[in-house]
Amino acid sequence: MPWTREQRRRIYRLRRADLVARMGGRCVYCGAIANLEFHHPYGRTWDLRRVNRLQRLKLYEQDWRAGSNWQGGPCALMLLVLACRSCNGQRNGGGDGATG
Ligand SMILES: [Zn+2]
Repeated sequence: MPWTREQRRRIYRLRRADLVARMGGRCVYCGAIANLEFHHPYGRTWDLRRVNRLQRLKLYEQDWRAGSNWQGGPCALMLLVLACRSCNGQRNGGGDGATG
């Protein structure tokens, strides 16, 4: 049986919170812990509009893992970082929006 909207929303929130926590839970630019968004410093390789929110989370996780596993060191190449809304807003292009 397919999930209801409400169940999908709940799963999305949990997974998003989990990923944010694993990524450190702070804005990489100013250290803020509120209003965090996912941010691709070098741009996204996929189209945000073509994937639903749960697929998007998988892609975020992939990008984050690819970056943090690079040369075995965390943050050696950051394909995906956490940025608070105000820092993200100052960086044109790479922001994935409030719902990202
Ligand atoms: Zn910030």
